Amino acid sequence: MTKIRKIVLTEDEMPKQWYNLAADIHCPPFMGPDGPVPPEGWEKVFPMNLVEQEYSTQRWIDIPDGIRELLTRWRPAPMHRAYALEEALGTPARIYYKNESLSPAGSHKPNTAVAQAWYNKEFGTKKLTTETGAGQWGSALSFACSLVGIEAKVFMVRISFDQKPFRKLMMQTWGGTCIASPSMETQAGRDILAKFPDTPGSLGIAISEAIEAAVSDPSGETKYSLGSVLNHVMLHQSIIGLEAKKQLEKVGEKTPDVIIGCAGGGSNFAGLAFPFVSDKMHGAEIDIIPVEPYSCPTLTQAPYVYDHGDTAKMTPLLAMHSLGHAFVPPPIHAGGLRYHGMAPLVSKAVQEGLMTPRAIHQLECYEAGLLFAKTEGIIPAPETTHAIAAAIQEAKKAKEEGKEKVILFNFSGHGLMDLVGYDKYLSGQLTDYNLPQSEIEKNLEVLKGYPQP
Ligand SMILES: *Cc1c(COP(=O)(O)O)cnc(C)c1O
Repeated sequence: MTKIRKIVLTEDEMPKQWYNLAADIHCPPFMGPDGPVPPEGWEKVFPMNLVEQEYSTQRWIDIPDGIRELLTRWRPAPMHRAYALEEALGTPARIYYKNESLSPAGSHKPNTAVAQAWYNKEFGTKKLTTETGAGQWGSALSFACSLVGIEAKVFMVRISFDQKPFRKLMMQTWGGTCIASPSMETQAGRDILAKFPDTPGSLGIAISEAIEAAVSDPSGETKYSLGSVLNHVMLHQSIIGLEAKKQLEKVGEKTPDVIIGCAGGGSNFAGLAFPFVSDKMHGAEIDIIPVEPYSCPTLTQAPYVYDHGDTAKMTPLLAMHSLGHAFVPPPIHAGGLRYHGMAPLVSKAVQEGLMTPRAIHQLECYEAGLLFAKTEGIIPAPETTHAIAAAIQEAKKAKEEGKEKVILFNFSGHGLMDLVGYDKYLSGQLTDYNLPQSEIEKNLEVLKGYPQP
């Protein structure tokens, strides 16, 4: 029999509804100074159609035809059987990966970017502001805004702005504006620069700037957009796992034994994993593993607390795992995984024992990325190498145990814009970072006196 390497779906088979884990898991409310924040509390920041989704506990939500049409530019995404990687590892495990690197921006991020741009257009928004770490989100949103005809303004974390100039050019090609953060354009940026002129920046700082730029527009026609963390983003990404289910079925696989995704804010991991979480809640035996860098160990070492989503404390408090909103992680190359917090839904699922997070060091991840590139062929984004490294650990474990496990991981993006990181790895300039417990504790001090979830 010929080996089926790519399991594809027709455009017609693309899911017509998103799955909302908030129907099955209940997160504590967003907290403001006066208690729980009602939907109207977000009016200046997000369009109300997206706020409604953020608060929704409806299990299935229809994907509007207009969004389905935008998604079919690259979806459904293929699922690959990693035969070559399996062979290199000599594992009895069957390894599958969902290939989200084929979107125009090169990652899973356009799945929510086009949805958010479309809802904003419907609402009457003229301009979207946002932050970006590695530049993936900024380019995804610039792409999406160009499709629906609204402006995009992106605050890019300084270190990535310097390390990854090509992403800035992608944003500009799609018509977006890209500014290094912290910048002099906002009060939040000016305050940080006054104190720390040489700061490499952080996602938390860039979020503060982007929110300020949106809410301070007196016309009310500028809104803010977040590429991860929030419930509506997890919802839009659920299309990954819903497609994956259909694809596994096509090749006669039942529920996978292990599901893996790298987790920065949690969205690509959630997108793949959430549709399977409800199976697990109904008795399926699945190990669900979010993977993070050792240098930014949000799920594995930080407590479940109430914290702000950004450094300048512009957002309400979110119940999540957090290293503290002032945390600035070491400058590892997986820029998209350098966030102090984690999606509330992912955090809650971890609290409920539905997932077992894992942290992996940078060098092991690059090593896994190289093996993947040399076998399967695609050069993974540094973020994605975390998922690959965990998949390899699991495949080796299956070999030791002599078990025919089915391992599914999310290939969140390609690394063609991140070759500077590969250069540093190949020339031996990268090291592993350990975050001392004392450093973690020091950063958590900012949370003294905060409510407990
Ligand atoms: C942004 C990004 C991530 C991390 O974001 P999540 O919201 O945790 O998914 C992971 N992989 C790639 C390729 C990214 O661009």
